[in-house]
Amino acid sequence: MEIVFSCIDDSAARFRLEGASTSFANAFRRAMMGEVPSLAIEGVRIYDNTSALFDEMLAHRLGLIPIRTEPGCYVQREKCTCEGSGCDRCSVTYTLSVEGPGMVYSRDLIPQDPRAVPALDNIPIAKLTKDQKVVLEARAVMSTGKVHSKWQPTTACGYKNYPEIEVSDRCDACGQCVDECPRGILITTGGHVTVIEGRLEECSLCRLCERACLNTGIGEESAIRVKSDGSRFIFVVEGDGSLTVREVIEKALEYLKSESDELCEKIGELSGVTGDEEDKDE
Ligand code: SF4
Ligand code: SF4
Ligand SMILES: [Zn+2]
Repeated sequence: MEIVFSCIDDSAARFRLEGASTSFANAFRRAMMGEVPSLAIEGVRIYDNTSALFDEMLAHRLGLIPIRTEPGCYVQREKCTCEGSGCDRCSVTYTLSVEGPGMVYSRDLIPQDPRAVPALDNIPIAKLTKDQKVVLEARAVMSTGKVHSKWQPTTACGYKNYPEIEVSDRCDACGQCVDECPRGILITTGGHVTVIEGRLEECSLCRLCERACLNTGIGEESAIRVKSDGSRFIFVVEGDGSLTVREVIEKALEYLKSESDELCEKIGELSGVTGDEEDKDE
């Protein structure tokens, strides 16, 4: 199995996963979205709120602000020794005090731990007019997207099968499929149609080109055939800033490895064979 990056920066990545099954690709996608822990605001104590927003709306908006989560600094609430009641190992507290006129931004949340700042400092929370104010304390905790989507470190995370396009000798370069392709990746050249170099991955597998070819009266089978490779996947992952996309990918792979190790161990226990004995047999 191999991962080949086409592009990656802190907030987005596009890569190919090669030599994997559909089940693994889907487990990987779900792990990135739901099993990578990050910080998100879970509790808010409002001392004063004379803004136009209800307290509940204000708390909801705070919960959706991505919080920078340095790997290894905090433990997941569900695994913490405090058993979910909240302590310094699994949570961070913030204070916010703003008086109008003006906008309350995410940067107005002052963390007790300077590493756990909001990932973006200019997210608007509430607009205050003269004499309105918001004073509150908030607590962010470490948890995962499986518990609530506010803990998902990805804003977009999806894959598609790698496209394969074949053109048979029956193609007469009429260009109907070229006009039909919504991604504009086909071109007629040398008496037949072909994919523009470097643009194959843009194919959405919509098969409109096949339909256009059939509509030319070519017969039962179209001269262009679009297939998908069942062992290669194109992933696009965008992060919300709580972790870098590379951190999200690494943590998701670590999670999958630990889960599969645990499963192997359990199967070994059930069948009465330990990992050491298996090694000796080999
Ligand atoms: S499947 Fe769709 S996107 Fe791909 S080449 Fe055909 S028309 Fe274009
Ligand atoms: S529509 Fe069919 S025959 Fe015409 S260029 Fe496309 S593949 Fe060739
Ligand atoms: Zn704790």
